[in-house]
Amino acid sequence: MADSTPSTSEVLIVGAGPTGLMLANILGGYGYSVTVLEARDTLIDYPRGVGLDDESLRTIQSIGLVDQVRPHTTPQHIMRLVNGRGKSIIINNPQTDEFGWERKHGFIQPEVDRELCNGLSRFANVNVLFGHEVLDVEESASAVTAIARTTDAEGNQVETRFEAQYLVGCEGGKSPTRKRLGVSFEGESPSTRWLVVDVNNDPLGTPNVFLGADPERPYVSIGLPHAVRRWEFMLRDDETEEQATDPEFVNRMLASHVPDPSSLNYIRRRVFTHHARVAGSFRKGRQIIAGDAAHLMPVWMGQGWNSGMRDATNLGWKLATILSGQATDKLLDTFTDERRDHAKAMVDLSLTMGKVIKITNPLGVFARDTASSVLNLFPSVKSYFADMRFKPMPRYVKGALADPSTKASGTANGKLTNKLIPFTTANTNIS
Ligand SMILES: Cc1cc2nc3c(=O)[nH]c(=O)nc-3n(C[C@H](O)[C@H](O)[C@H](O)COP(=O)(O)OP(=O)(O)OC[C@H]3O[C@@H](n4cnc5c(N)ncnc54)[C@H](O)[C@@H]3O)c2cc1C
Repeated sequence: MADSTPSTSEVLIVGAGPTGLMLANILGGYGYSVTVLEARDTLIDYPRGVGLDDESLRTIQSIGLVDQVRPHTTPQHIMRLVNGRGKSIIINNPQTDEFGWERKHGFIQPEVDRELCNGLSRFANVNVLFGHEVLDVEESASAVTAIARTTDAEGNQVETRFEAQYLVGCEGGKSPTRKRLGVSFEGESPSTRWLVVDVNNDPLGTPNVFLGADPERPYVSIGLPHAVRRWEFMLRDDETEEQATDPEFVNRMLASHVPDPSSLNYIRRRVFTHHARVAGSFRKGRQIIAGDAAHLMPVWMGQGWNSGMRDATNLGWKLATILSGQATDKLLDTFTDERRDHAKAMVDLSLTMGKVIKITNPLGVFARDTASSVLNLFPSVKSYFADMRFKPMPRYVKGALADPSTKASGTANGKLTNKLIPFTTANTNIS
């Protein structure tokens, strides 16, 4: 039986992953009350994301946590796509800093996520409740209520009700909120499986990213902060998950990468598949989805975590503006307008990159390597890739700040209020 007196806040966030934690920081900074309900007893502690963008660091700066996050990042993370002979096909080494920070960083996701979570202790009105799995949600004209299962002090499973004006499902790819909303989740789930290996005593020390387009076995090798290194190896169809995570198998994979695989401290050996999907809409009524709940993408461009940051950035000020009474909740529809196309563009780019890496048939490999040798002779083509000019920028052609007649961004017809909502960490309970 659910406790009938709901605990109330202005916004409920389901899931304490990076998207939910960032959104809670933004709303906490505006002074709103937020309850974050997380099913697990702790944050996810296994390594996932490894590439952090300049835009994300700018958002982290805006919530006042850049000094805490920076030690868990390596700036100027250069990416090289190399062929089976180790020759560079594409190099990404952008030197610009349009958002005030280096364009690419290596990072340790669990460490950065933890800093986002620790940052919430600055806000008296923000609560993170671990061990609270949201089972169901009821929505009325004026409120939304989540029913969460938790364990009480006597060890009994109980259901508790949490009420708010809006609920944001940031529960990752399996998002119950997305399913409840009944929105589509279009795209594909390529069947390729990858063995992901993380160690914390990297004997190589090279701090950058190698995407190995090796037809024998495509691989990834990434140097990260705190002496962590990530490898990924494409699995063949007949290699089972059990075989692939066996230490013998892993040592064999690493034999051509490090002098002595048996000396490595493994953090994790795990098999992942990729998905390339985007939800048809990110909002229905008082319920919204963000992060992996709204879009899933292959890891090649390192954009899943970063897209969650963009979602939180876009959604945060809109919820704050609505809660302050300065806009109607119609503003929330622009969240889908502004974020969906960009997320889709990132999914498509990631899929394309994956297809280039995964080529194993000799003719395809020859064609790819020859084309890259020729194209690299043209400085403009080379710099197009080096400067990452192929990366779609989050430009809006419709939404809150785009002029519908010219499609130019930043010239909205609607009158924007000059009553700015203060974002502050001054009302914190940290001295
Ligand atoms: C191998 C790998 C490499 C990657 N590399 C990169 C990269 O380089 N760069 C990048 O940007 N991204 C990368 N990603 C993707 C990135 O890790 C994800 O996009 C990101 O973690 C998504 O964050 P999220 O907050 O949306 O969801 P999640 O991190 O999945 O968090 C969801 C949370 O919701 C909780 N939850 C679920 N259901 C419920 C419920 N019913 N009630 C309460 N809580 C619930 C879960 O326990 C979880 O804590 C990678 C992923 C993998 C697997």
